[in-house]
Amino acid sequence: MQGAFALHQEALHRCGVESVQVRNADQLLSCDALIIPGGESTVISKMLKANCLEAAFAAAVQNKLPMLGTCAGMILLANEIEDGTPDQTSFGAIDIDVTRNFYGRQVDSFESAIELNVPPSIASKLETEAQLHAVFIRAPGVSRVGDAVEVWATYDNEPVLCRQNQVMVSSFHPELIPEDDRVHQLFLAVANQ
Ligand code: GLN
Repeated sequence: MQGAFALHQEALHRCGVESVQVRNADQLLSCDALIIPGGESTVISKMLKANCLEAAFAAAVQNKLPMLGTCAGMILLANEIEDGTPDQTSFGAIDIDVTRNFYGRQVDSFESAIELNVPPSIASKLETEAQLHAVFIRAPGVSRVGDAVEVWATYDNEPVLCRQNQVMVSSFHPELIPEDDRVHQLFLAVANQ
């Protein structure tokens, strides 16, 4: 409904996976997995309400639909948003709390190498104990990590890529680095587990 969905579709296409843009409950029901893109979490939250998708989305979380939330998408999937707007909803798909704009405002956006540390059993053919180039745009931070959550990458000792069962979240925008689809491939591995 909002945000950087087109580039995610291109990344999925490169990974050999078909995707649709989800704007209503029927489209959501037709999916085996869902990516909630970066953008503006308060707007996505409002649009879910305005398009009567909130209940269907909450049901998809309840039914354990595999989900990847990047940046604003991570905020939507968190347990608690420490500085959300009063009308903003988070869906508790992964046991983390988040702080919006943790790394500062738009002008403080940055790119950096981050350290991936993913168990090789998840995707043995990928380089998962290596660096990854990450783009942070008004990125959220993870202020609490629940016991069941695995931290798969850090930047400056802060978790920036986390996974709990069928849900993965990143503070950064993996779709902006088209020459490296490892985050999407990892998500497909998680979704297929
Ligand atoms: N700061 C935005 C928010 O609060 C997220 C930014 C992004 O997705 N690039 O939703």
